[in-house]
Amino acid sequence: MTAWIAPDRQHASPEHDVSLDDTQLFTLRHRDAYRAQAQRCIDLVHQHLDDVERPFSGVTPEELRPLFRGLDLDAPLGQLEPALAELKRLYLNDAVYFHHPRYVAHLNCPVVLPGVIAETIISSINTSLDTWDQSAGGTLIEQALIDWTAQRLGLGEDADGVFTSGGTQSNLMAMLIARDRFCVAHPEGGDIQQQGLPGFSSRLRILASGVSHFSLKKAAALLGLGHQAVMPVACDDQFRMDPPALRECLEECQRDGLLPIAVVATAGTTDFGSIDPIDDIAALCREYGIWLHVDAAYGGGLVTSQQHRHRLQGIDQADSVTIDYHKSFFQPVSCSAFLVRQRRDLGYVTYHADYLNPRAQAEAGTPDQVNKSLQTTKRFDALKLWLTLRIMGADAIGGMLDQVIELTGEGYELLREQSDIETLVAPSLSTLVFRFRPQHMTADTELDALQDNIRARLSRSGEALVAATRVNGQRYLKFTLLNPDTHADDLRAVINAIREHGYACLQVPHAPRSATRASATTTDTAMASLG
Ligand SMILES: *Cc1c(COP(=O)(O)O)cnc(C)c1O
Repeated sequence: MTAWIAPDRQHASPEHDVSLDDTQLFTLRHRDAYRAQAQRCIDLVHQHLDDVERPFSGVTPEELRPLFRGLDLDAPLGQLEPALAELKRLYLNDAVYFHHPRYVAHLNCPVVLPGVIAETIISSINTSLDTWDQSAGGTLIEQALIDWTAQRLGLGEDADGVFTSGGTQSNLMAMLIARDRFCVAHPEGGDIQQQGLPGFSSRLRILASGVSHFSLKKAAALLGLGHQAVMPVACDDQFRMDPPALRECLEECQRDGLLPIAVVATAGTTDFGSIDPIDDIAALCREYGIWLHVDAAYGGGLVTSQQHRHRLQGIDQADSVTIDYHKSFFQPVSCSAFLVRQRRDLGYVTYHADYLNPRAQAEAGTPDQVNKSLQTTKRFDALKLWLTLRIMGADAIGGMLDQVIELTGEGYELLREQSDIETLVAPSLSTLVFRFRPQHMTADTELDALQDNIRARLSRSGEALVAATRVNGQRYLKFTLLNPDTHADDLRAVINAIREHGYACLQVPHAPRSATRASATTTDTAMASLG
């Protein structure tokens, strides 16, 4: 037995001096150490929150890497305190803080407390949500949340689903089911799970808008179809899939002997937040007898919003849906789900292993989530959403989304007030895409480099973090707004910082105070070449 004693007496509390044996196992004999150490970690974060002034320190890989040199992972520190002190140096001091109001970059949300505290239960009990005999009530909690989500989406009585690691895995499941279903029904096809891909597999196609998520291409590659299988459908000027263009693609497939296995409608595109017209797309899918998958990784949170849920109109007609609770439900990563309208379709991922989930067990009605999952051992991520709904309720989540949507509208107006900022399109959800463009600048290559420089300077200063993307081959900056604690003043400050860095890059001594813009946005011209 080695005594575990906090060396840093400043932080020590009576519970701190608890003995631990070498195993350090989470078990009854270490229950006091568990509490003391967990408390110490919470205290560390609690203290550190007060020190976080900016979303990022601005550190570069070159600056941070040397701190890892000389670390010997075979020489343990033996105690919590030095390990935490080291962690502060290596990680906490330079972490990227999504809760900070001026973190407006990627699709990362600040997280709600019920989700955070659920993690302490999840990892200590360590339930694995693969079989009933490893999870019991955990399985019923996950299932209840799947049923709740299916009901909110309007998928009907026969719907089912499973928690996943994220939208990427959910989209992979959707494309796998669409592929296998199609091939079983095809006269020259067959059972892919048993026999592998049929001879015509290179003709299979997935139709999705030109601004759909890249995970569809990844899925196509993993499924043996290649990136070439994803056929881009043109968008309208709001970056929504254009139904007449979809019809043309379907006709083109018929003409060329290509075989569309699925149409993917995106409810909340990653860059623009645009929501494809699901109703019209669903009608075309019915007409052509094609699987409709709705990728609502981002927009799925709208099911909780009284004010905006109508924007998901038509999602009840989906054959399958991807939803990321770790994006618009303010949950810690990972927390996500995949749902289908007809539960039997999940059978395409089922494998009955004698040692784990024998067929007889399923026939006896045992609810084993592994029968519906790509994963075997699986985290009890559902508990985070569960505690959130039980403590806060869905309306509170919806209210937070409403706030960020409103903020996005304000941000759009602020951007449009600047004569040296060019917005690309009015916001659909909670992103803003724009670029810094002083009026004398027209060359696109210079403009691209300028946006990159501005972003790099902002990141280096750490005062704010913004994202960037490419639209029609050109560089744009992007705000993704998911923090109800971000206010118009924050956006004003970030926009000013962008302009100041922009002029500094151009070596113009100081940014002219925001002038009223003279020209309209270039939405129309920028859009013309899309798709
Ligand atoms: C984020 C995102 C995904 C991928 O989800 P992950 O949880 O990051 O794997 C898929 N589709 C869309 C539209 C997304 O925004």
